[in-house]
Amino acid sequence: MDCIFCKIIAGEIPSRKVYEDDEMLAFHDIAPRAPVHIIFIPKAHIASAAEITSENSPLMGRILAQMAIVARELGLDGYRIVTNCGESGGQVVFHLHFHLVGGEKLPRFL
Ligand code: 5GP
Ligand code: ZN
Repeated sequence: MDCIFCKIIAGEIPSRKVYEDDEMLAFHDIAPRAPVHIIFIPKAHIASAAEITSENSPLMGRILAQMAIVARELGLDGYRIVTNCGESGGQVVFHLHFHLVGGEKLPRFL
């Protein structure tokens, strides 16, 4: 499948890994928008948050829990979790991912 993030999971595209287990991977964003900008993805190819179901939602909870652990380990006192969904939502890579952004006072968005 022609998916950048699946290629990162397969090791075909290098990444700076932050965390990995059987079902998820976290790596530094290639174009960070803040001092800390880490991407968390399920290893299963799920196109976007629009494909979250009652079946795969427990994995989403585990990803969010792991994001909290990484944020704590990095000593972040605050941060933002973002998932862009669909073209109008600003999604560019169509493999579900959660951005963990922080390390500075973030501008108000929502
Ligand atoms: P989206 O706009 O889809 O929510 O976010 C995609 C993110 O993936 C962007 O922040 C972009 O910088 C990041 N990205 C795209 N290609 C690569 C890559 O090859 N390696 C890494 N580490 N990040 C990437
Ligand atoms: Zn993929």
